[in-house]
Order: sequence, then structure tokens, then C-alpha cells
Amino acid sequence: MTSATTEKLADLKSIENWAKNKIYILLQSAPISKLENTNVARFRGWKFKWDNAKVRFGCCNYRTKTISLSRELTERNSEGQAKDTVLHEIAHVLAGSNAGHGPLWKEWAVKVGARPEQYYRADEVKPVDAKWVVKDNFTGEIFAEYVRRPKSRDWSKAWIRGRKNETLGRMVLEKV
Ligand SMILES: [Zn+2]
Repeated sequence: MTSATTEKLADLKSIENWAKNKIYILLQSAPISKLENTNVARFRGWKFKWDNAKVRFGCCNYRTKTISLSRELTERNSEGQAKDTVLHEIAHVLAGSNAGHGPLWKEWAVKVGARPEQYYRADEVKPVDAKWVVKDNFTGEIFAEYVRRPKSRDWSKAWIRGRKNETLGRMVLEKV
């Protein structure tokens, strides 16, 4: 793996077009036989968007059917890393929300051409300056990022608006 500094930096517009095309090919128009699953509805209707995350590169939201990439991290890292992150998230869609980064996700990651690894090594991704995150203790999903430590509160009793059932009792504050 070459280091990010020697690779071509990502261009936002070309990454966006590339991501939309991959979503179309691998999810929207993929034939049922290729998906190995008769419930194709859950693979249709996915969109791409940019987000403002600072510590996690990509995200797939099963509820809104959105794959998003951090605009800042994309700008600071290589095109190859941005593209790999898109494929990483598409593998999450194909594997389903319960798969995590387990064997099923790994299988799909290989099939769609993503590196079957959960995270980039620290030296390969140039992070931006968030210092604290509130995240899901089990899936690692990041809900909020802070440069300064947020006011003390009991995160185990907190939840995300509209997602109480899936987030209550799972949120933790962590220094990154
Ligand atoms: Zn992942």
C-alpha cells in the first residue's frame, strides 16, 4: 500500500460521480441472481451524499438509504482511499445491518472489490481535528464529534432523536 502523500488526491466531483455509478451498478441495477437474495427491495433506492464528519470516512445509513463520505477526509486523502471507502459502505448495504464487519461483510467486501478491513491504519488516513466522539459502543457508528470535551452527562441514558430504540443505552463518549 502506497502512502497517501504519494497518491493522487481525491477530486470531490469525480469521486461523487464514481460513487453514484458504483451504487447504480452494484445496488440499483444489480440482478437478483448476483445479490443472492430475493429481498432486492432493500438494495434499491440508495443515494450518495457528502457529510461533515471528521473522524470517520464513510457511513451507510440503512434508514435513509444513504451512503455518505466525509467531505473533509476525502479532500485530505487519496482517491484510492475514497473509492475504497465507497465500496466498503456498499458492502455494508449488501451484507445488511446485522453483519457488522464480520464474515458476511468481508465476503461482500471482497466481491465488490473493497479491502476487507474495518479501518484504515492511522498513518494512511489524515484525520481532521475532532478530539472527542459520541459513538455506538457496539457498531462504532459515530453520532457526534467535538473538538473540546463536551459537558459531562450520562451518555448511557442519551439517545438519538428518531432512533431511540436502536441508540438508547449504546452511546459512549470517547477520546480519539
Ligand atoms: Zn464499516
